[in-house]
Amino acid sequence: MFGRPAVVTAVRDAIADARRAGTGAAAEAVADSARWRLQAQSVPSLRSVFNLTGTVLHTNLGRALLAEAAIEAATEAMRSAVALEFDLGSGKRGERDDHLRGLLCELTGAEDATIVNNNAAAILLVLNTLARGREAVVSRGELIEIGGAFRMPDIMARAGAKLVEIGTTNRTHLKDYVAAIGPKTGLLLKVHTSNYRIEGFTKEVPARDLAAVARERNVPLVNDLGSGTLVDLTRFGLKHEPTVAEAVSDGADLVTFSGDKLLGGPQAGFIVGRKDLLAQINRNPMKRALRVDKIRMAALEATLKLYRDPDRLAERLPTIRLLARPRAEIETLAARIAPLLATRLGDAYQVERIACNSQIGSGALPLEAVPSAGIAIKPSASRGQGRALSALATALRSLPVPVIGHVAEGSLVLDLRCLEDEAGFVVNLASLDVAEGQDAGA
Ligand SMILES: *Cc1c(COP(=O)(O)O)cnc(C)c1O
Repeated sequence: MFGRPAVVTAVRDAIADARRAGTGAAAEAVADSARWRLQAQSVPSLRSVFNLTGTVLHTNLGRALLAEAAIEAATEAMRSAVALEFDLGSGKRGERDDHLRGLLCELTGAEDATIVNNNAAAILLVLNTLARGREAVVSRGELIEIGGAFRMPDIMARAGAKLVEIGTTNRTHLKDYVAAIGPKTGLLLKVHTSNYRIEGFTKEVPARDLAAVARERNVPLVNDLGSGTLVDLTRFGLKHEPTVAEAVSDGADLVTFSGDKLLGGPQAGFIVGRKDLLAQINRNPMKRALRVDKIRMAALEATLKLYRDPDRLAERLPTIRLLARPRAEIETLAARIAPLLATRLGDAYQVERIACNSQIGSGALPLEAVPSAGIAIKPSASRGQGRALSALATALRSLPVPVIGHVAEGSLVLDLRCLEDEAGFVVNLASLDVAEGQDAGA
């Protein structure tokens, strides 16, 4: 069942451990230990979890959940040969981008489009194509770090572009852009400040005004939208986030955005805009290194097609469905779940239903709080609270399907916005076992 080589290794390791511990290598104990090792190895490393963090698009938890249509399309593409770069009409070689170009143009109003590994790749490719050995002009207030190693100045350096910072942290004027444009300018870059807001005495140049200057001086304007949504989110009771179509109609020559943020698809990066610029991008040999495979192409096509019917989006696209989920519905869910948790946890913890705020996550509307509901769990004893809290978090993470919450004000908070599989959650809870004094740091 585990395969002979793995079993042999597990038994050897079990014997070696028993000898080291001086417990002697009794056959039964060695067999138990070897079985335990083999079972632990067979659990997938990439596990499904319950995301009760309150952050709907959680980068560390894999961002968007895919629509059923996308899952089906991806599965089908995995099983069979597909006409990925093959034109079924002529029988000649086709282009990978052809499967999505039409849809992307239809949904964004752009002339042309291409797809790469993620938005970071999209920006790298754009900078490398249009500004290698030249200057890229960006406002100081927009030199973002997204997290991990994605810092705009570093990406620029790797793309071979020279960063020209203009304005100040809080204020950048149109005249700053105008003054920076010269014979070496490769492009003007506008970046969506995804994960922060500069507030107070501020000035930012709207993309539309920037576009006028870019056109007049004949330099391309690139707008990195980050999350980039394809629909007006106010339809779903959320605040307005700039749509890709708006960025295109505001006059950006190229717009870049992610596939697995608000768009709700698999990881991908899109570049949409002017045909002549996309032709240059497609000729860049780096494009090949950044392309996406058939599985993601299939999932992307199915996801984008859902946007043709915005009225049914909230029902079919999990990202929108979760973000649009009314607080009242989440409250009734909390009312059903809280007593079960209280019973499971006994006297050592106090379980309380609370109102809380979810976040969209992944750099969309960073200050926008989406009213939600959840459960706060607090250790009953005032002594050793920190320890009891981490024992609880560890126990929840050790469940067959790990449950991930977040700690706020001395409580472990489970925001139930993203809990859809209630039955699965309840079955999972039956295994909850908080050992007192459990290792806090695990
Ligand atoms: C998220 C983000 C990126 C990076 O996108 P990935 O798809 O994660 O590579 C780049 N720019 C902005 C403004 C972002 O918000």
